Amino acid sequence: MTASQTLPIRIPTQPPLHEHAWSVESAHRTSQGEIVYVRCDGCGVRRVDLRTVAGTPPTAQSRTTAAAR
Ligand SMILES: [Zn+2]
Repeated sequence: MTASQTLPIRIPTQPPLHEHAWSVESAHRTSQGEIVYVRCDGCGVRRVDLRTVAGTPPTAQSRTTAAAR
């Protein structure tokens, strides 16, 4: 079976429509620093961050995930 036309594949390449407002859901210490699980208060997406030194901004260890519905 050959289809000459296929539906376009949706690739989420656009930046978020707002600047995420991350809130910490949980965190735990590891040998590399503190792993922080954050969630955006605005849209509900989640991300995992690594906080290596207290007082410095955490760095993202994952891409943002889709919001739970
Ligand atoms: Zn957001």
